[in-house]
Amino acid sequence: MSPRNGRRTGAHRAHSLARQLKTKRRRRDLDEIHRDLRPENAARLLRQEPDPDLPGCAQFYCLHCARYFVDLNSMKEHFRSKVHKKRLKQLQEAPYTQEEAERAAGMGSYIPPKKVEVQTQPLEEVTEMEASS
Ligand SMILES: [Zn+2]
Repeated sequence: MSPRNGRRTGAHRAHSLARQLKTKRRRRDLDEIHRDLRPENAARLLRQEPDPDLPGCAQFYCLHCARYFVDLNSMKEHFRSKVHKKRLKQLQEAPYTQEEAERAAGMGSYIPPKKVEVQTQPLEEVTEMEASS
């Protein structure tokens, strides 16, 4: 929250920072998150290189909300929060991208959107840790 945190260093980040300032932290829309949830993308997002510029060095990321957390506990708390559950619901109700919706409409036969199975990402290492305590 301190204004001093607003300034970030790191040459390779300068470019994305400039863009971020211009677009004023646009939130990821649901279409983008649906893309993130595809296994190949999800795996990449959940195993990011540690990045000191991001909360928790980018090691605690909620795919569904596109948010970084400072540590495991904050992330687990978030998984139990209303915000996160609401987001899961939103994602379940909007499984189609705009493009897919239009294509379906163009085919004349309306197929009601199927509910997608959206779950909180598994916390592999975490559950093991918990089991031993
Ligand atoms: Zn979340």
